[in-house]
Amino acid sequence: MKKVLLLKFGELFLKGKNKKEFEKQLIGNIKIKLIEYDFDLTVTPGRILISGYRESLEENIISDLTNVFGLISVSKAVELDTSVENIENYIAKIDIVGTFRVNVKRADKTFPIHSTDFEAKLGGIVLDNCPESSVDLHNPKTHIYIDIRLNKKTYIYYESVKCRGGLPLGTAGSALLMLSGGIDSPVAGYMMAKRGLELEAVHFHSYPYTSEQAKQKVITLGKELCKYVDKLTLHIVSFTKIQEQIHFNCDEEYMITIMRRIMMRISERICEKNNLGAIITGESLGQVASQTMQSINVTNSVVSLPVFRPLIGFDKEEIVAISRDIGTYDTSILPYEDCCTVFLPKYPVIRPTIKKAEYQEKFLNVDLLVNEAINNMEDIVLTR
Ligand code: ATP
Ligand code: MG
Repeated sequence: MKKVLLLKFGELFLKGKNKKEFEKQLIGNIKIKLIEYDFDLTVTPGRILISGYRESLEENIISDLTNVFGLISVSKAVELDTSVENIENYIAKIDIVGTFRVNVKRADKTFPIHSTDFEAKLGGIVLDNCPESSVDLHNPKTHIYIDIRLNKKTYIYYESVKCRGGLPLGTAGSALLMLSGGIDSPVAGYMMAKRGLELEAVHFHSYPYTSEQAKQKVITLGKELCKYVDKLTLHIVSFTKIQEQIHFNCDEEYMITIMRRIMMRISERICEKNNLGAIITGESLGQVASQTMQSINVTNSVVSLPVFRPLIGFDKEEIVAISRDIGTYDTSILPYEDCCTVFLPKYPVIRPTIKKAEYQEKFLNVDLLVNEAINNMEDIVLTR
């Protein structure tokens, strides 16, 4: 009998080649997440097992595993060689007080007793041995799970810790997150990473109009995201000159629109340089003037890569709830300014047009500004 952590993974509709790739990536990601521990990892059909670690580190390991995308749950289990006798002997020794139910799952169809019959039999054994126990099929205090697997092993456990689900990081490719210091963009990055996208990030700052702390805050947010993505290259772009140029040369009303269009162009260039397949933003429809349908259209029109906006249909409250859950909220609300607040126009245009934006850009040397920004970019690699 051996103690193991039993890991279940999701998206089981994946078939054939996809499934192989999914599993391979998932196993690699688990090893990266648990890099600081000694442990053994065994892959069996439909389950991954972790064993051989220091007992005192078990809770830390479980907690780290909950942040591996693609996993559904982790259970502390015992492993037995599958046989009716072994399972019955084990169940005969457990001590149950209060209500319980037994759940048998039989992946190994050669096991000689049907699941429901075996559940009744095992339930009877518990009742015989534990006088203070009783069966409750609907709302039991203790759930006894018996997982009879194809590898001729059976896993018995009581509880499971829920993981975050999603798809293994890297199975969807890589994309660039536009990371501001706000609440929304870290959440957007988390949500796309959860669907299997590896992330890099870009941040635009307007030092000295924005402070050194504002930049530091974004570095902290990036590090907080590393809890999920392990590693994040952060491209830090100075936006100061671009903002000054826009401020001095363009119509005030269009200032934010033009800023956003230039941010998008720079982001796309970073994607091309680093082989990233999409841009991710934290925009939510109608939240501010720059996030109306017309504004999104005008900023989107300067890039040809897909732009993912996972928060587009979310209310602020819903975004805040995720932000708290993933642990970025407290940093996001620290009171440091973002470059978008520098030279902020009183009345930004709510329904800009592409034609008018293009006209405003005639007063700038956009290509030169984009090139300069790219050439002076600072890259830092963040880890957990
Ligand atoms: P957030 O909470 O993410 O800052 P927001 O509600 O403040 O979003 P905006 O300021 O309109 O909204 O920004 C919309 C999106 O544009 C952000 O979610 C982010 O993806 C991107 N963005 C804004 N400012 C920056 C910046 N300084 N650097 C990088 N990306 C930015
Ligand atoms: Mg913001």
